[in-house]
Amino acid sequence: MRTPIQRFAPTALVWIFAGATLAFAPTACRTAPPVAPTPAPAAVTAPVVAPAPASDAPAAPTPRAELQEHRTWTFAAAAPTVTFDNQFPCARLNRCEEVAPHDYRITITPENEPINPSPWFAFRVRAEAPTDITVRFVIATKTARPRPRLSADGVTWTRATDAQWDGKQGAAECVLRMQAGPATTWVASNDILGNDRLTAWSDALAARTGATMETFGTSTGGRALRMFTFDASAPEDWVIVIGRQHPPEVSGSVGLMAFMDEVTGDSARATEFRAAFRVALVPVVNPDGVHEGQWRSTLGAIDPNRDWGPFTQPETVALRDAILAIRRRPGARIWLALDFHGTNKDILYTPLEDDRTSPPKFASAWVAAIQARFPDYEVENTSTHNATEWTFKRWAFETLGAPGITYELGSATPHDRIRKIVSGAADEAMRLLLAAKQ
Ligand SMILES: [Zn+2]
Repeated sequence: MRTPIQRFAPTALVWIFAGATLAFAPTACRTAPPVAPTPAPAAVTAPVVAPAPASDAPAAPTPRAELQEHRTWTFAAAAPTVTFDNQFPCARLNRCEEVAPHDYRITITPENEPINPSPWFAFRVRAEAPTDITVRFVIATKTARPRPRLSADGVTWTRATDAQWDGKQGAAECVLRMQAGPATTWVASNDILGNDRLTAWSDALAARTGATMETFGTSTGGRALRMFTFDASAPEDWVIVIGRQHPPEVSGSVGLMAFMDEVTGDSARATEFRAAFRVALVPVVNPDGVHEGQWRSTLGAIDPNRDWGPFTQPETVALRDAILAIRRRPGARIWLALDFHGTNKDILYTPLEDDRTSPPKFASAWVAAIQARFPDYEVENTSTHNATEWTFKRWAFETLGAPGITYELGSATPHDRIRKIVSGAADEAMRLLLAAKQ
């Protein structure tokens, strides 16, 4: 049964079209969402009135996420000596102790609580000589037990086998049995795909396509917030693509990259699309959280995808203002706002059935098109997930009137499968947007 929805438009909006002016004030009534009646882009004669960014600056300092101590643990009581460390980007290992010879207990805690039970861990192990070790995980949530992945280089990963991993939900400890040796073994709850690789990928994409990069803000930790703009010669018809609001959601980044690779590719559809639409890409909304190996939050200890209303974090404030600046450009229209995430399965969170987006019913048409393209793959979607939370997709709908869609990819979905499905989904999105524009 659907939860009753309350809508609180975060600000007054005025949509101005040729011959008609529609004003929408903040409201607690879901019957009056700020939806434009599917305006033709050419009819836009004046920019939308956007809120003044300065007035929404945080009123008070927000708390800081609790940072882990970066160190190396050395256990030499039993030969050979074994070391653990968390001294690299995306690492998370809060405590490590030896409970018996070559038997270790590690503790994994989040940056703040309460928090969504989506644990992230990442650490390295070495031994002076090859030796079998036991690693007991104490994870500060009882409901999620991500199966570790192991890697010899931090790039190529293999999931722990059933023989290696005992990770029952609710168990106080989960146990990994592995061999350590002189060469480093990386252990993490998912492939490590951090800021460095996403920066390299997006810079290469920009170099290949001639996209421009703008630093639109700075995170709490002082990291640049980067937006790439593609196809500056196209009309002011925009698609917004963002990712990594949530640090552990590597599969979302795999999906985002597949989407952008398709959109910037050399297919006839992509070529036609890029002549008709511009794309604004923000590969990493929460670079501090990614770097610190956090479970969910910004460095300000706030879930950024619950901050698209309160706007307490510099990351969400800066991205909101950057998108509103696009929206204020003469003749600009935002047709689609996509936010890539990762969860326990592939699923799209779409606008409510009665949300009258512009273009109308894009989300349901897109879901149907993806399903038709991949008949052997079940496309899941729901429109009620987190409908009352301050998510990016809700903000995109309520403030921009655009279809705001959260595209979740399964954390255990093979990456080549993610790439195949999302590449097809990108092609269908381009087809539908081109058709809607005609
Ligand atoms: Zn997420």
